[in-house]
Amino acid sequence: MRRDFTIKVYLELLDALQQSGYAFQTYAASVKNPLQKSAVLRHDVDRSNQRSLLMARIQKERNISGSYYFRIVPQSWDPAIIKEVSNLGHEVGYHYEDVDIIRRKGNYQREEMLDEAFRHFVVHLQKLRKLAPVETICSHGSPLSPLDNKIIWTKHSYKSLGVIAEPYLDTDFSTVAYLTDAGRRWNGRAVIIRDHATGNALCYPYIRSTRQLIHAVRSGNLPDHLLLNFHPQRWYNELLPWMRELLFQGIKNLIKRILLKVRPIK
Ligand SMILES: [Zn+2]
Repeated sequence: MRRDFTIKVYLELLDALQQSGYAFQTYAASVKNPLQKSAVLRHDVDRSNQRSLLMARIQKERNISGSYYFRIVPQSWDPAIIKEVSNLGHEVGYHYEDVDIIRRKGNYQREEMLDEAFRHFVVHLQKLRKLAPVETICSHGSPLSPLDNKIIWTKHSYKSLGVIAEPYLDTDFSTVAYLTDAGRRWNGRAVIIRDHATGNALCYPYIRSTRQLIHAVRSGNLPDHLLLNFHPQRWYNELLPWMRELLFQGIKNLIKRILLKVRPIK
């Protein structure tokens, strides 16, 4: 059996996209000037920022630019890596989780918490902008949190800060196919708590493995605009870390299935 979520399979996916005529755009470029047929490679740097750097270098070798969203936590945030990813020609964005961080700090009333989270967000955005230009942001799912980090925008505005878009809030999912490797599968709706497309979203339940995704790309079964989401810590050629990720994800998926059953999602 050939393993999925290896760098080798990842390269096959890039080949399929290139050979099928998809141009690669950063998320910001796709918002400002969408090309006729394009794929956005969005990377959520949840942890293992070294794996993100590896993907950023692989893309650079192929003249591909992607978007990399960094969290404020130490397992993601590394100024040298953030700068290098940006210098390689990729977009850097903020993978924010300020609502969850503030929620864990104390007992706030909702309004007060949103204000505090926004202040927190502004500080981190400024900190990131000292390392790289930032035009877009993307929420972290914080699956263990009862609150969605995006609720900050029920009271405040990111556009007032010069942020042009947030993929979950500014994408027309009825025309852009959004596929994510969350849950270590491409059709993981049952194990995704928040990081899914909303509204009348295009849906591809038959695409589970990366090879099935490659086949769909090569067969022309996907629309001209793709938003593909990667968690770089998941992709390994080496057997041991690959198995560690496989086991870790199996446990995470089990917990997420339970959470989705017992907890109303806000
Ligand atoms: Zn995340």
